[in-house]
Amino acid sequence: MDNETVRVRFAPSPTGYLHVGGLRTALYNYLFARKHKGTFIFRIEDTDRNRLVEDAKEKLPDTIGIFFDWDEGIRKTKNAAEQGPYIQSERLEVYRKYADELVERGKAYPCFCSADRLEAVRKEQEARKEPTRYDGCCRDLSKEEVADRMRENAPHVVRLRVEGMGDVVFDDIVRGTVSFSKKTIDDQVLLKSDGFPTYHLANVVDDHLMGITHVIRGEEWLPSTPKHIILYEAFGWDIPRFAHLPLLLNPDRSKLSKRQGDVAVEEYLAKGYLPEALLNFVALLGWNPGGGKTQEIFSLGELVSAFDLAHIHKGGAVFDARKLDWLNAQYIKNLPAEELLTKSLPFLLKKPWFDGIDASRKESEYVDRVLTVERDRLQKLSDVGDSVRFLFVEPTVDPTLLPWKKNTPKETIAALGVMREVLSIVPENEWMRERLETILLETAGEKKGDFLWPLRVALSGEKQSPPPFEIAWVIGKQTTLERIENAGTLLGNMV
Ligand code: GLU
Repeated sequence: MDNETVRVRFAPSPTGYLHVGGLRTALYNYLFARKHKGTFIFRIEDTDRNRLVEDAKEKLPDTIGIFFDWDEGIRKTKNAAEQGPYIQSERLEVYRKYADELVERGKAYPCFCSADRLEAVRKEQEARKEPTRYDGCCRDLSKEEVADRMRENAPHVVRLRVEGMGDVVFDDIVRGTVSFSKKTIDDQVLLKSDGFPTYHLANVVDDHLMGITHVIRGEEWLPSTPKHIILYEAFGWDIPRFAHLPLLLNPDRSKLSKRQGDVAVEEYLAKGYLPEALLNFVALLGWNPGGGKTQEIFSLGELVSAFDLAHIHKGGAVFDARKLDWLNAQYIKNLPAEELLTKSLPFLLKKPWFDGIDASRKESEYVDRVLTVERDRLQKLSDVGDSVRFLFVEPTVDPTLLPWKKNTPKETIAALGVMREVLSIVPENEWMRERLETILLETAGEKKGDFLWPLRVALSGEKQSPPPFEIAWVIGKQTTLERIENAGTLLGNMV
């Protein structure tokens, strides 16, 4: 492949959020462009006025920009004078010009049929159990008839004249040879009565004018492709190569949930999924490095080297939220401490209990210690603090939890006393994780449960928590000794 010529695009319609499938499409286009030293273009397809959402045009590039950059298109100046604007609603005269050209050459025709008539035709066809399609009523109007109707300003659309029999056949990079019978292809509308182009016209005109060589998009656009090919042929333009990406599926293999909360990239980011993890996750939705390689963690740079359209599967790609959690946890584990701190803080600040805690526990040094202990337990940043709330807030201890197995309260008081004793002689400046671990393990010896269990409960109030020496290290000497004493008092009340 001639690397220089690769030009691909991401062409979303604004729906108010970026769908995870959209992120995957954008990513594969980006990777393909980078791999072949080509150009990645970002354009907005907003010609469907019914689906328009305020702000969406801004939100899409904002969100994509979190993950990677594009070379030409919205917000970019390169080639913009020749090929822009990159928002389709700002290019209406371009589409009109090309629609007129097709009408002039007899490849398209104005259609004056009313919505009522089209509806009646559709119903009749349904009743006869025929495929529903335009019945060609305006296909062969005479020039005079057309001119008369135009003079009357009769509302009309422009339709493509689909001619001939046989099949439209093309070679899809992912799916191989794909063929559609022309019988199933309607004389589709190119220009609507409000002067807006349909997706088909605007998409083909722009892909041509922007020099797109490869159209990489979701499988849901596969049925549109023969229409596009007929359009390219009608214009006499080169046809780009197509690669249709597999559908995204729920784990039960149904089509991926439509609930925005489950598919909006912005919501995943808001929940504390790291962009790198999310990107890694969507990269694997329908692609793998091939060659029996089992690598699962990929940086963007690694993806660029490993990516190949030939390794995209045809079959649907299951969206497994547990895998996303796992990947995110891996990325959190590997975050530099400082980054983990700055990224976690906003989530911590939103916790309802965070406001009222002691000021010293809001300091970054303290939070940093908490994160050192909690890091490996985090699946997403919004969970921060949840499993270790006792590091911020004094725990409520259930005294019956304190004794290890069949130990009596008295024995437990004694064990806690020993723990308190050895801890109280550790100087403040030696209050380090490893040091505390060594002291406590040495003291407990063979009897880990007898000593460390009550200590863990005394310090956390929980049955499950990070090891007691880690808790002690985070909360500091004074609080540690206080919590042990409180536990002793509670046990004393039981004796
Ligand atoms: N505007 C279409 C979308 O919303 C683009 C499809 C295509 O890439 O041709 O996904």
